[in-house]
Amino acid sequence: MFDELNSEHERLLEFLYACPVGLVEFDATGTISIINPHAMKHLLPLAGDRDPTNLFTMLQECAPELRNLFGDYQQDRGPVCEGHRIAVDLGISRAGRDSKVLACTLVKLGPTRAVATFSDITVQVAQERRLKQAETWFASLIGGVNDYAVLSITREGIVDSVNAAFTRQTGRDFAEVAGKSLDAILNTDSRSGALSLSNQLRLAERDGWYLDESWQQRSTGETYWCQRLFAARTGSDGATPDGFSVVLRDVVHDESDTSDLRRMLFFDHLTGAANRTHFLQTFVREQRRWRDDQQPLSLIMFDLDHFKAVNDTYGHPTGDLVLKQVARVCTGLLRPGDLFARLGGEEFAALLPSSSLEEATEIADRLCAAVAAMPILSPQGIFHITASFGCASASDERSTVDVLIADADAQLYAAKRAGRNRVHGGLILTAEI
Ligand code: GH3
Ligand code: MG
Ligand code: MG
Repeated sequence: MFDELNSEHERLLEFLYACPVGLVEFDATGTISIINPHAMKHLLPLAGDRDPTNLFTMLQECAPELRNLFGDYQQDRGPVCEGHRIAVDLGISRAGRDSKVLACTLVKLGPTRAVATFSDITVQVAQERRLKQAETWFASLIGGVNDYAVLSITREGIVDSVNAAFTRQTGRDFAEVAGKSLDAILNTDSRSGALSLSNQLRLAERDGWYLDESWQQRSTGETYWCQRLFAARTGSDGATPDGFSVVLRDVVHDESDTSDLRRMLFFDHLTGAANRTHFLQTFVREQRRWRDDQQPLSLIMFDLDHFKAVNDTYGHPTGDLVLKQVARVCTGLLRPGDLFARLGGEEFAALLPSSSLEEATEIADRLCAAVAAMPILSPQGIFHITASFGCASASDERSTVDVLIADADAQLYAAKRAGRNRVHGGLILTAEI
């Protein structure tokens, strides 16, 4: 009998060991009782210096929502979430940027027992994105196209001809746009996850074409959903393109259609701010642009003060409400080209392309005052919170993304030490750190 049980236990362990998906068994607080090697491979690099014996703590940075989803699930048994996508950015490795997407399923087996599975779906997500592009393009070929315009631009993105439909669609005639950069005519919004025009053109050059879509504005101020196809025109040497043909399609947009995947990949589910991965990817692009064009580039990072006490005093749901409200108020104070992100927990950042350190510090002062002035409604009554801010700006060749983040972080912690509810920026004095 004992032998039988023993061999059953061994078989279970063998299965867990060989299973090609990550499996974790944990209790209601997230404390892990069983974890297989596959899950360890995915989860341990995410834990950083946090407790690796608790599932929610390990995932606090890249998927803080799992704790909420689990806590909000009322039944004793059943699926809490299925195939929930977690975008993971593990920083820069030797082989380049090491980012991936994990699918996580959480199932409650009883009031104090649950299992989680994790699988790597990075390749599938990349394929889905391509497929989605082709799908939206062809779907609107059949119906839903209001109008399409054709124009031609140079290799650098300067408009050199447009057809009559262009004027109909955008409200701008040729004289108005000739010789201008298409970037200045199309208001590409980096929050929607779109690449800058120059990056789109480089991709079109590499692959022969590039397709993207977003809201655009007509000269009247009216917005419409615009699909853009850039096709490279072969140059005289037969290899380097001498320019691009651009098709702009004004299509009927079904919001639920394309945006789900985008939202999941780029935005934090609780606050709607950009997620850490999207923020870092945009930051890497903007840092390259800064290096090439020397346009200013600044970073603000901030962390809410004594947030643990907010959760302890008013409860986790009120804590979540604070995070949402902070994101809404701060986003409202930034310009369209800035990117506001939740880096994890109660830590946020704003990336400010084309702002100097002085301007960034002024903006941070405004954000700091707005956070402190924001009334928060809780079942226990109205209360206020504060945050501590650090600013950094790209200045010389040592201004890599990692260095800028470390600089802003050092300033943030100097602000904490100096008494919180304040902004620190500028040169880092060694004595301050
Ligand atoms: P300090 O002023 O030094 O930053 O103090 P603090 O209490 O804010 O310190 P700490 O960074 O250690 O605490 C962060 C807290 O934020 C702990 C964690 O429970 C809470 N938190 C992280 N993510 C969430 C979330 O999604 N919702 C809620 N309600 N709380 C969260
Ligand atoms: Mg804090
Ligand atoms: Mg913190």
